[in-house]
Amino acid sequence: MPLSPVRQSIRLSGMSQTYDCLALFSGGLDSLLSCKLMQQQNLRVLGLHFISPFFGKPDRIDHWQREHGVNILPVDVSREYVQLLLGGPKWGVGKCLNPCVDCKIFMLSRAREMLSMFGAKFIVSGEVLGQRPMSQRREALGLIRNEAGVRDVLLRPLSAASLPPTPMEESGLVDRSMLPNIVGRGRKPQLELAREFGIREVPTPAGGCLLTDPGSCARFWPLISRMETPEPQDFLLAQLGRQYWHGDHWLSIGRNKQDNQALMEQVQTRDIVFKPVDIPGPIAVGRQHKGEWSKEMIQSAAVLLLQFSPKARKAREPVRIKAGSGNFLREFSPDPGSEADPEWKVPEWEELEREKKDFFRRPEREE
Ligand code: SF4
Repeated sequence: MPLSPVRQSIRLSGMSQTYDCLALFSGGLDSLLSCKLMQQQNLRVLGLHFISPFFGKPDRIDHWQREHGVNILPVDVSREYVQLLLGGPKWGVGKCLNPCVDCKIFMLSRAREMLSMFGAKFIVSGEVLGQRPMSQRREALGLIRNEAGVRDVLLRPLSAASLPPTPMEESGLVDRSMLPNIVGRGRKPQLELAREFGIREVPTPAGGCLLTDPGSCARFWPLISRMETPEPQDFLLAQLGRQYWHGDHWLSIGRNKQDNQALMEQVQTRDIVFKPVDIPGPIAVGRQHKGEWSKEMIQSAAVLLLQFSPKARKAREPVRIKAGSGNFLREFSPDPGSEADPEWKVPEWEELEREKKDFFRRPEREE
């Protein structure tokens, strides 16, 4: 039987030892401090670093482990997380597309499922009472704990003194008197605590979650609103280069060499790859998610691509562009002076703001 992604991750990381607790480890200061507070009590902590197209920095894990002395396990939840977003988060989204309450419930439920794999007795989270308006109000913290089914096993050590004692504190497994009373939005107490723990590299406050970033969400929005079933890879492609949409036709255009390379790494079998033949220039990827593109639409995308090639714009003769997917390859020679179809549009944040409310209110998404 194939191993689940989490078990594969455990096997690859070689982390088969047991721990006292599992901690949600985002890489931010609060999550690091909550691990340190447990280590201070001689409890063995394993950090869980969740990864999706929107958050997670797997390439930082080795560094964090060395720098902070905390074992960290990557947990890839991409597919489930995209489903969560598309299904319409039960507790809504924040200013952008961030479903923070559902997200916390999701991560804590996953952590609960993993406790027995490591012989761990409880879960630690770096949430701070009153720090965020949506997910860290007192009621929200209670709701998240209950909905995730972690009432008996969740400790929020940073705000412990302001929260009711947990079974871990009542049983003496965790010494409540050693836990701080951090509440509110300020960062000063966390910075002092970081100094006390001798943390040399203090993570910056920015969370790095793309679902809170308007620019990224404008890129993601057409996938959510126009594609039948976007996959995690689609959200990765949407982060690259210039993004253009013409109805349901989606084109990603490289802005530079790095973009071109990154685009090529995301190419799938049915994608149409556009490349200038005789001149260096941007590469574009058209993702055929709803049927095949017509010849006219491929030509139209080739003309748009030329707008971003200064060499092509200066050329006196038609410039050859190859466009292909699999064995199928077409060659076009648009006139360098041709104007791009104005229906090719870059998704804008305002568009998302207008459509978002209706989308997340659709009856089938409220079930
Ligand atoms: S900011 Fe992003 S990662 Fe953090 S809780 Fe909200 S949705 Fe989840």
